[in-house]
Amino acid sequence: MSILVYVDHFQGEVKPVSWEIMGKARDVAAQAGLAINALVVGQNVDGVAAEAIAYGADKVLVADAAGFAQFRTHAYAAAFKAAIVTAKPHIILAPTSAGVRDAAALAACELNIGLAADCQGLALDANGNLLAERPVFSGNILTTIVFAAQPQMATVRPRSFPLPAADKSRTGEIVPLAVALDGLASAEEVLKFETTETGEVSVENASIVVSGGRGVKGPAGFEPLRALAQVLGAAVGASRAAVDAGWIPYPAQVGQTGKTVRPDLYIACGISGAIQHLAGMTNSKVIVAINKDKDAPIFDVTQYGIVGDLFEVVPALTQAFRARLGQ
Ligand SMILES: Cc1cc2nc3c(=O)[nH]c(=O)nc-3n(C[C@H](O)[C@H](O)[C@H](O)COP(=O)(O)OP(=O)(O)OC[C@H]3O[C@@H](n4cnc5c(N)ncnc54)[C@H](O)[C@@H]3O)c2cc1C
Repeated sequence: MSILVYVDHFQGEVKPVSWEIMGKARDVAAQAGLAINALVVGQNVDGVAAEAIAYGADKVLVADAAGFAQFRTHAYAAAFKAAIVTAKPHIILAPTSAGVRDAAALAACELNIGLAADCQGLALDANGNLLAERPVFSGNILTTIVFAAQPQMATVRPRSFPLPAADKSRTGEIVPLAVALDGLASAEEVLKFETTETGEVSVENASIVVSGGRGVKGPAGFEPLRALAQVLGAAVGASRAAVDAGWIPYPAQVGQTGKTVRPDLYIACGISGAIQHLAGMTNSKVIVAINKDKDAPIFDVTQYGIVGDLFEVVPALTQAFRARLGQ
């Protein structure tokens, strides 16, 4: 019996969500006495396979071919199917990252496997069956999905679990995976990639996030937050209200339809604390909120609440941190 974990990477650089899932898979595997197989797809991905062992895989199935140099849904789904057929896992886990969520869904569909998408929590019941937690009804309810058949498959949001440490002394097996690429699997062609350079820290991977909501009142209202973020080396996040108003681009959105974050420190400025926003940030280690309304629901999840006008409080905090950090 085993768990199969899909390791997502972009040009050999592994997305941390893969290791977050691997860490959780290790906990689950230890509980149920399962082995962990990893799946790595790409070209020249030996380094990724070695990393997978350091992060907890016992065996790594590697689909390494020119046909996998770029992500293509049908080709990657073909590799996913080949891995499932070869390893016969009891549980299959993959990140919800762009691309993989498509390939996982396609593989699940073609193999007639039940898939719980976009999960935030994983556990096992007393019989070793997967319990997958995910938000439904606009994030108003958290449900636990139980599976009617095996194998059981789930895709998991970034930052749902802590990032484990790599153990370079671990040993494991690396096995090539044969995948036939025909029909649709060879029909897609990637023409080019364009990267967006914002020059700012990405909200998903930041250890400190300073977020603004409707209370910042306009695009210019993010400037004091950016100044604070710069002093702290933080990323700037936002509520959906601020994103929908066009004050800040979508990649900054935190919440159910945005990013899930898990920083050491989350500072919410002018954000009321709607359930859909909380869905993306309540796993932060320390939450601070600045809000004019002492009854704002955000204060229910904070360790430190500052009742006040963010346009006074944020610059005062920036000045205090600057002095404290000797900047
Ligand atoms: C399907 C669905 C998905 C959604 N997904 C998301 C999501 O991913 N992320 C998300 O954030 N929302 C999401 N929402 C929207 C969510 O329901 C809320 O509407 C949104 O989070 C509200 O944003 P806000 O807190 O910035 O605005 P408001 O709720 O309007 O709150 C603004 C806050 O600012 C405070 N304020 C005003 N002026 C100041 C000031 N000068 N100083 C200090 N405080 C001040 C006010 O007291 C208030 O608490 C979703 C909704 C739906 C239906």
